[in-house]
Amino acid sequence: MAGLIIVSVQSEAGALVVHVASTGAPVACPGCGAVGRVHGYVDRQLADLPVGGQRVLVRLRFRRLRCARVGCERQTFREPLPGLAEPYQRRTVALTTQVGAVVRELAGRAASRLLAVLGVGLPRQSAIRSLLRLPLPVRPVPAVIGVDDFALRKRHRYATVIIDAITRERIDVLADRQADTLEVWLRARPGARVVCRDSSGAYAEAIRRALPEAVQVGDRWHIWHVRREALIDRAEVRDLRRRPVAAGR
Ligand SMILES: [Zn+2]
Repeated sequence: MAGLIIVSVQSEAGALVVHVASTGAPVACPGCGAVGRVHGYVDRQLADLPVGGQRVLVRLRFRRLRCARVGCERQTFREPLPGLAEPYQRRTVALTTQVGAVVRELAGRAASRLLAVLGVGLPRQSAIRSLLRLPLPVRPVPAVIGVDDFALRKRHRYATVIIDAITRERIDVLADRQADTLEVWLRARPGARVVCRDSSGAYAEAIRRALPEAVQVGDRWHIWHVRREALIDRAEVRDLRRRPVAAGR
């Protein structure tokens, strides 16, 4: 926490509240390097890693500064809070890292349950949003990919996951399961020669438009699922035919 000091720690309504303030050290403008003048103060409250099962809140006061150089494009800027908070976040970097690690492994519901045990209250929907915000490493698109949808909220909202079909590693997550969204993604990242997909017409259309040369393959789960449903239908029809005709007809 360079440039910051802990002013006090107190217990308040079941939470430990840590008051943190700036040391007032000079801050250089990110645009031109000139030392900034104090423009005003900003108060923020951040959730931090719990201690002994107790919630920890960081109440922080930091400076907004104005660039002293006439004509600089950066008129105002905030002082950096390295290691403590990223802009517009309501959690400290430490808590964001912990939440990120849990949602990356467990996604929504399970992450929410485990985080509650760790003293971090995070509803399932927030866990999913945290997961969607995680930056994915940039890597070349593999030759064989898989696309499938999953429910963010069953029967209401769906997203698309794109995986490496060989290693089963996740490559990206798209916010919906529309053809246009997948098409834009595929056009920006050409390279896939084979795309495994479910029976969705939207995905088929997107792949056809963006990668006309790519081979489309029905993925194993969906093929077996369709065959199983067809077999059940046929068995039901057969049973109906065998059913004895009602008396009197
Ligand atoms: Zn400047």
